[in-house]
Amino acid sequence: MQQVYNFAAGPAVLPQSVLKQVQAEFLSYHGSGMSITEISHRSSFFQELYHDAEQTLRQLMALPDNYRILFLQGGASLQFYMLPLNLAVKRRVAYVDTGHWSQKAVTEAQKLPGMQVDVVASSKDSGYTTIPSIPTLTKDYDYLHITTNNTIEGTAFNTLPATKSPLIADMSSNILAQNYPFEKFGLIYAGAQKNIGPAGLTVVIVRDDLLGQVAGLPTMLDYTLQAKKDSAYNTPPVFDIYTAGLVFHWLQDLGGIAGIEKINRAKAGILYDFLAQSKLFRSPVVPAARSLTNVPFVTGDPELDAKFIAAADAAGFKNLKGHRLVGGMRASLYNALPIDAVTTLVDFMEKFEKGAG
Ligand code: PMP
Repeated sequence: MQQVYNFAAGPAVLPQSVLKQVQAEFLSYHGSGMSITEISHRSSFFQELYHDAEQTLRQLMALPDNYRILFLQGGASLQFYMLPLNLAVKRRVAYVDTGHWSQKAVTEAQKLPGMQVDVVASSKDSGYTTIPSIPTLTKDYDYLHITTNNTIEGTAFNTLPATKSPLIADMSSNILAQNYPFEKFGLIYAGAQKNIGPAGLTVVIVRDDLLGQVAGLPTMLDYTLQAKKDSAYNTPPVFDIYTAGLVFHWLQDLGGIAGIEKINRAKAGILYDFLAQSKLFRSPVVPAARSLTNVPFVTGDPELDAKFIAAADAAGFKNLKGHRLVGGMRASLYNALPIDAVTTLVDFMEKFEKGAG
């Protein structure tokens, strides 16, 4: 089989060793004679793997005891609504607009009755190639929402805004890829399908004091109830939580977030350095705002972009097409993408450039 490198933005590459372990124990989970996809979420097998995944993630992120980790469903997209539903008691919330996904978060928050949704900063004027500076908030907001990494635009918050309101993050595309002072957040949410595991699991990390503020919410949309029931009010995504647990251990063995961040910086550095000297390809993003996990690049000629994407695909570099909203190319360099994927991609780009010149 041809060596393939998967640069997809999500669902995305998972560690080979994890996939092999899933395969090896797929038919009989821990000698049970049953597949992980067949075991009950009330069984001791599940209870054990659930608590192990929860504890390992807690250690990786060095989360203090006053944070709850929830393993939910519905994707990050459900969190766009669930977040204000649970936390916007004053009905006044602040959002930073850094592109497509942050706008979706704003749009959903606006759907709650009586909401004042203030976009307090935006990088729209730069075509979302920057991260805006955030003014000191003068009103009493329920929270300030940021998207730490903008999957489509390829920008990331490398420093966090100072705020008196609880800081909330959609961390879908860079959770566990780089270190943040996680204890500075009131709530973090992320769809799993980039750095954590298969699609179908959403991780929500919430500080205790933000729970229990709103009564009478629909059961499945109530963080407090989900926390009380250890995310198992109904049937949780057993296979996803199991796989996520394996990924968390894989990451721990690599030295945790600090260990993988070093590797991620090396990977992204190779590609950004190449783009900086290339006469054909360039990064549209200002250096200070560049993402470690999603690297968009363009030639400036959509026809040549399409030619490059097709040639790269044939050579085994898969899913390099940029998001349909922005065009061009995008290489997603998530934790499980090996460094040689990037070095060989850069070699390929160099050859393509010579051929095109
Ligand atoms: N936020 C960000 C930053 C994303 O990248 C994505 C998915 N690409 C989403 C939200 C939506 O996630 P989901 O598909 O899990 O709803």
